[in-house]
Amino acid sequence: MNLKMNDVKEIFNLINSSEDICITGHKSPDGDCIGSVMALYEFLKPLDKNVTVCIDGKIPFNYRPFVNEDVISQEYDGKKFDLLFILDCSDIDRLGKFKDVFNNSKKSVCIDHHKTNDSFADINVIDMSMSSTGELLYDVLKTLGQKLTKKAATYIYIAILTDTGKFSYSNTSSQTHRKTAELIDLGVEVAEIDNTVYNSKPSNVVKAYIECISSIELYYDNKFGIASITQKILEKNDADMGDIDGVVEFIREIKEVEVSCVLKEHEENSTKVSLRSKNNIDVSAISARFGGGGHAKAAGFEVKDTVENTKKLLIDTFKEYFGE
Ligand code: 5GP
Ligand code: MN
Repeated sequence: MNLKMNDVKEIFNLINSSEDICITGHKSPDGDCIGSVMALYEFLKPLDKNVTVCIDGKIPFNYRPFVNEDVISQEYDGKKFDLLFILDCSDIDRLGKFKDVFNNSKKSVCIDHHKTNDSFADINVIDMSMSSTGELLYDVLKTLGQKLTKKAATYIYIAILTDTGKFSYSNTSSQTHRKTAELIDLGVEVAEIDNTVYNSKPSNVVKAYIECISSIELYYDNKFGIASITQKILEKNDADMGDIDGVVEFIREIKEVEVSCVLKEHEENSTKVSLRSKNNIDVSAISARFGGGGHAKAAGFEVKDTVENTKKLLIDTFKEYFGE
């Protein structure tokens, strides 16, 4: 464990001396973000503090059964905080509409595992060797010295489960498994969580997913695969963007694919790019070139342009890697 004891002591002191505490994570939250934020909320709840949770973006349908959504603020009212925790978020812009919370907090703590994190907070617990922010948070909470409740353990488990692709990605270490074993000892219900997170898709979401999969195009001898999630597909199937998960991972399942890409049309001139790499190509370095970031094998960025133009940009960018 690379955790610095001084950081943990400082976090402990800050929690004790703070009244109003805010917990936030990156916009369009995923399982790691939601799991980490909610685990920390569960941890702080019994301490008799005013704890606010805020995340920009809808909680995807498959995490809703675990979360009391009344607890999560959707709009920022300008409130000031003594202490702010920022989880699973590599830069302030990724807080979306809660960006200003950072300037309105006396102290900030960032806990994150992204390679591209630029240590913007007062205390930065950043460890890119961790599978997930949830795994890193588990170390922090354990070192803070309180037993986790089953609920907090469940949130950490969801964070780890989803960011490791069910313990299959290269970020999964023996330590990840050891910590997960401890979580199971705390009562985490593995099969039930799997059914809720992965086996509960509404049929409209599956239909939208199939349309996205149908849009896959392959380039450079099938080494680069790209698909789009457009507003048209979402509207037709009455689905939300955050509910369509796994398209980019599906493309990577194609044998020859080295890099997979999904374009998410948020607005006509706002396209979110998701990239996954199978082997040696560092997609976080490519994303950083376009103002984004992430991990070597999973990264992303935003383009202020249409899906069609962004597709051309991506095909052109990967010519450098795969073109003859
Ligand atoms: P996803 O493709 O699932 O949205 O994101 C994959 C990884 O890349 C995640 O770890 C995510 O935090 C990171 N990522 C995605 N989009 C961005 C972005 O616009 N900026 C940064 N800094 N990281 C991103
Ligand atoms: Mn993460």
